[in-house]
Amino acid sequence: MQNKIRVYNTLTRRKEDFETAIPGKVTMYVCGPTVYKPSHVGHLVGPIIFDTIKRFLGHQGYQATLIVNITDIDDKLIVEAAKRKITVKQLADEITGDYFQCLKALGIESIDRFPKATEHIPEILAMISKLISDSHAYASAGDVYFDVSSDQDYGKLCNRDPEQLEAGARIELNDKKRNPGDFALWKGAKPGEPFWESSWGPGRPGWHIECSAMSMRWLGETIDIHGGGLDLQFPHHENELAQSESFSGKPFARFWLHNGLMKTGEKKMSKSEGNEIVVSELLKKYPAETLRALILSSHYRSPIEFSENRLIEVGRSLETFQRFYERVGRITNAPVTAIPIWNQGNSDNEELAAIRTRFIEAMSDDFNTGSALSVLFDLVTHLNRWIETHKLEKDKSSTPQLNILIDGVSILRELSGILGILSPNTQTKNPDETNGLVEGLMGLVIELRALARKEKNYPTADLIRTRLTSLGISLEDRPDGTGYRIE
Ligand SMILES: [Zn+2]
Repeated sequence: MQNKIRVYNTLTRRKEDFETAIPGKVTMYVCGPTVYKPSHVGHLVGPIIFDTIKRFLGHQGYQATLIVNITDIDDKLIVEAAKRKITVKQLADEITGDYFQCLKALGIESIDRFPKATEHIPEILAMISKLISDSHAYASAGDVYFDVSSDQDYGKLCNRDPEQLEAGARIELNDKKRNPGDFALWKGAKPGEPFWESSWGPGRPGWHIECSAMSMRWLGETIDIHGGGLDLQFPHHENELAQSESFSGKPFARFWLHNGLMKTGEKKMSKSEGNEIVVSELLKKYPAETLRALILSSHYRSPIEFSENRLIEVGRSLETFQRFYERVGRITNAPVTAIPIWNQGNSDNEELAAIRTRFIEAMSDDFNTGSALSVLFDLVTHLNRWIETHKLEKDKSSTPQLNILIDGVSILRELSGILGILSPNTQTKNPDETNGLVEGLMGLVIELRALARKEKNYPTADLIRTRLTSLGISLEDRPDGTGYRIE
């Protein structure tokens, strides 16, 4: 059963009922990276958010297709490749590889295709030719520009008229253009630059036209969702929209979704601010799931405050879930993963059903992942209380109460899978933790401590606990005995 989904549309500046061009199907295009430097944390915000949106739409019964493009030809690539004395292709391949690794680490597996600009030159050329013949574009000394004055709607995404847009943005002035706001569809090649032949001379595509051509190639002339960072709204998305609709005469995207940008302190995270954090470095220190949870802990349109302290905080709060999973594992005498995820797992238990509904409602309200995540914390609090109230740790026999706990775990697994976080056991930081030797030694230490306590030798018992704490191991006295955790 599909819940009614409401989505904030940048184009109309209000929340609308989510209706797709073809009922039950969703086409999504999200602007991807320009591959000239390794991914920094800010680059992964969009992929994490739109991956989560796609997971939720799938959960709600939609069949969604998600495409993220790779800009593998651009001034930035040309400059960087020259600096490193490698070809643009070598640079693009290397950085695309880094990007893919980051996506994989962060559990982003829902992207169906990654079209590359350099593999879509014929589509781009065909689009430019039609825009010229329809008088929306003009060739000028080896370049081709889109004529913004030919589009009555230009500025509608940002809700500003073209003059205001020009005043607000750095617009490259040159005497090849008819209007200052005109933008390049094709850039004539300078000596030594990579180029493709065209009727306007050798050159390469402008950035904006790539997205229009690749989106239409793979998803058709009208897509359901166009996503990207807030910083792409102007000029990139405004220009994509103008050229696409001038080309097809049809709406380009039904819903425009813009995600907030990552900030450190007051500043946006970017290379120019010099405060970027390279993802592959960060993931050496923190579990990928913690980064994903941090990004999903606020609403996708809000700015995301990033710091390592925030990351540590989020990591600590996620331990609640791991402790809960371990607790359930001790009760059921099996790993939590043995509890199946019942699809659309409604429970007969009213409280569980209500919590599940709250989660779905939060996600249906403009994909509010922050609220949805807090519902999962409520669910675990509820289930922990359930265990205590019904003394499920002492009486491990199968009871209706135990079945309700298992229902709850199944719902938790189902819902956390939509956010792509909280998978059991992924937070094991120390591989030795699973090593039989450590387990055996810990069993011995725990036994010695129990013996000391039995003999009322409290100083020794306390010494054992203190020394373990200083090693990062905490003891937990539970109704069924003492356990340990490696922090
Ligand atoms: Zn784009």
